[in-house]
Amino acid sequence: MGEPGVIKKLNEEVVNRIAAGEIVQRPSNALKELIENSLDAKATNIVITVKAGGLKYLQIQDNGTGIRSEDLEIVCERFTTSKLREYEDLKEICTYGFRGEALASISHIAHLTILTKTAAAKCAYKASYENGKLKAPMKPCAGNNGTQITVEDLFYNVIARKKSLRSPTEEYTHIMEVVGGYAIHNSHVGFTLKKFGENTDLKTPVNSSVIENVRIIYGNAIARELMEIELQEPTLKMSLRGCITNVNYSHKKGTMLLFINHRLVDSLSIKKAVDSIYSTYLPKNSHAFVYLSLELDPRNVDVNVHPTKHEVQFLYEEQIIEKIKSCIENKLLSCNSTRVMYTQA
Ligand code: ADP
Ligand code: MG
Repeated sequence: MGEPGVIKKLNEEVVNRIAAGEIVQRPSNALKELIENSLDAKATNIVITVKAGGLKYLQIQDNGTGIRSEDLEIVCERFTTSKLREYEDLKEICTYGFRGEALASISHIAHLTILTKTAAAKCAYKASYENGKLKAPMKPCAGNNGTQITVEDLFYNVIARKKSLRSPTEEYTHIMEVVGGYAIHNSHVGFTLKKFGENTDLKTPVNSSVIENVRIIYGNAIARELMEIELQEPTLKMSLRGCITNVNYSHKKGTMLLFINHRLVDSLSIKKAVDSIYSTYLPKNSHAFVYLSLELDPRNVDVNVHPTKHEVQFLYEEQIIEKIKSCIENKLLSCNSTRVMYTQA
């Protein structure tokens, strides 16, 4: 028999790097956190610049509140946040962030620089971070109101991860999906995405509309077939808004953009339910474009089930899914009958 292993406490840096790798699995996860921070800071314009699918360079510039210079010292430490004070507040959290982990995580697996200015400050400040801490004293400098965060050499110290993410093109596709989704859902905010030194790939204007942004991002073939849906269900404390393509449109892959309480999430059960409705109307193995914004009583949603916050759990899932299904079915039925009438006329 072998000898038992000796148990020792991991040093803090190792613990933090492991945790960071769980939160940030690829550049698009980091970007999602950064976009959510900008939205939490009430930005109305967000510009994202990317090199090598975000692996080399990922920058996000917003015109939000900025970060107070007094806070720059600790902003990248784990569990420092301006959004949550008591555990109880989690029940009614209406900001995206609450754990104060995103910037910390990123600073453990990349070179992170913040340039920020609040409206009250006379000048901007620039600070670079490593492993949650300031690398050198922050420096006053010129800058606009708002925050610019630059993430360089993501996963430089997580060799296995770096090797598994070999295709900048694929990473850029994920980045486009995240930016596209948030731009559609937050159509009042202007989003710009570009590759460093190249022309803009995506640009939505400030105060645009959902349908207009779908047109800009996914093209007119989808936008012209969109129908708006809306549903209020006070007994389940749910409301649903969205845009779905009618039965004239189908696509091999399809798109499902699901927001629950404004978070971009995946839900296999909702996806399956939506697909099952469309399967009666669309050609075999083809799918629709579906954007759904589901709002639930925050008390019924647990956002803290997954480190990337990609999945959420909510109460009354079955009943809520039934309501979503019948809402979509009714809409499709009404447009299908119009189509039949046209062809008969
Ligand atoms: P969380 O969002 O959970 O609070 P983060 O690590 O993402 O944690 O951010 C830590 C803090 O840094 C936030 O609570 C916020 O005060 C500040 N912050 C981060 N990004 C921005 C931004 N773009 N504009 C203004 N403040 C920001
Ligand atoms: Mg955050």
